Amino acid sequence: MKVKASWLTIWACCQYQFHLHLKYGPMFTSRMLEGKKRHEKLYSDFLKDAVELPEGTDIMKYSLKNTFYTREIFLECDELVGRLDGLFVDNGLFIPIEDKFTRAGNGGPFYHHVLQLWAYCFIIEKKKGEVDYGLIRYIDNVFKVKYDEKARSTVAKAIKQINLFLKGKIAPDDLEVSRDATYCKYCAYNSLCDRKLG
Ligand code: SF4
Repeated sequence: MKVKASWLTIWACCQYQFHLHLKYGPMFTSRMLEGKKRHEKLYSDFLKDAVELPEGTDIMKYSLKNTFYTREIFLECDELVGRLDGLFVDNGLFIPIEDKFTRAGNGGPFYHHVLQLWAYCFIIEKKKGEVDYGLIRYIDNVFKVKYDEKARSTVAKAIKQINLFLKGKIAPDDLEVSRDATYCKYCAYNSLCDRKLG
C-alpha cells in the first residue's frame, strides 16, 4: 500500500492518532472542515481565472495566465501518494505550495506541515524534476522551506516507520503520543483516545 502524504502529517503530530485514524477512519474537527471549505473556495476561484494548457508541463492541465501555476494536483510515486494544494513551475524548477488556514507558529512553520510539504517535494523529485524548496502559506506569513538531503531522508524514514506499523511490526502501544495537552484537547480522536493528555 502506498503511504499517503497526509499520513505523514498525522504521524509527525501523534503516532497514536495515526493508529486511531486507521482504526476509526477519518474524523474532522470544525476547524478542519472550515479549512476544507476554504481550500475548495480557493480552487473554484483559481478555475475562474485559469486557462487549459494544450501543451504545458506534463504535471498540470490548468494554469493561471502568464505563469505556470496550478492547484489541487494529484501526485504519486512508488512510495507515496497525495494531493498538493498548489504548484509553481519556474524555469524547470518545481515549487510546491501548501496552504494552511491557521496562524504560523512563533518559531516558523509547524514541523508536521514541513514534513507534509517535504513529502510532496519527495514525489515531485522522483517523478517530475528538480525541487529546491517549497512554500507554506499561513494566513499571517509565508515560509520558504528548503528541500535537501536531510529532508529527503526524513521523509524516507517516516515512510519506513509507517510501513512497519501497517505491517504490524510496531504495536499501537509502542507508538509515540503527543506531548502537547492543547493538541490533545483539540484532537478529533480525543473522545476515543485512552492515552490523551488533555
Ligand atoms: S488525544 Fe492526544 S494522544 Fe490521543 S490521539 Fe489525539 S493527539 Fe494523540
